[in-house]
Amino acid sequence: MRTIVAGNWKMNKDRTAVMAMIASLRNVTIPKDVEVIIAPAFPFLAQAVEAVEGTAIRIASQNCHEAASGAFTGEVSAGMLKSIGVNACIVGHSERRQFFNETDAAIASKITALLEHGITPIYCCGELKEERLANTHAEVITRQMKTALGALDNEALGRLVIAYEPVWAIGTGLTATAAQAQEVHALIRSLLRTHDERIAETIPVLYGGSCKPDNAAELFANPDVNGGLIGGAALDAGQFSELIRIAGKVNT
Ligand code: PEP
Repeated sequence: MRTIVAGNWKMNKDRTAVMAMIASLRNVTIPKDVEVIIAPAFPFLAQAVEAVEGTAIRIASQNCHEAASGAFTGEVSAGMLKSIGVNACIVGHSERRQFFNETDAAIASKITALLEHGITPIYCCGELKEERLANTHAEVITRQMKTALGALDNEALGRLVIAYEPVWAIGTGLTATAAQAQEVHALIRSLLRTHDERIAETIPVLYGGSCKPDNAAELFANPDVNGGLIGGAALDAGQFSELIRIAGKVNT
């Protein structure tokens, strides 16, 4: 199984900063079996795709619209992303669910649109703080997984990346313990197994939520954690490069 280190830059970095960060990352040795993905903001995607040419770095967008085209002012379709060489897309991030009212049903449609265009969906799920405190996180994750992925056939499922992102850990400095992460990742894996035992073992399940160089080794060492979706620490070339190096140690 490959280990993925994916950086979600959110609404950060202008064009100069995006290009400077990519220039730094071009000098990083990407270990065998590690995949590096970065997600700059929409205006810089085309230039980022060109800037990573000849490297193993892949460019993701942070969102897409589920429709192919039409009167959806301000939105971007999966086909448009494909036409500029974007090959992955974060879907269902908690900030999209929270601030833009994205529903599981809309997220399911986005996943379908992305797969139709050969773009890898990085599907985010995760419980709120109150759901964790009420010990209902397993139910929440099960519902999110079933609603978003329930209709996919095995071939489609096999092209996904999943990210478990406990909302209480995103940008808060709080991180799930290795045991808390492994418990939910194992649940996600078991839900995937109900679709197909063999394919379930090939789907990367990333951890996200204040993951940084000083906690990544412990998190990535869990059997069902296949890397990280990184926010804050992905904005810094030094920290992100260190996370890539740590990911390289997982399979050695
Ligand atoms: C994220 O938003 O996907 C994320 C994991 O952020 P952070 O690493 O800053 O918690």
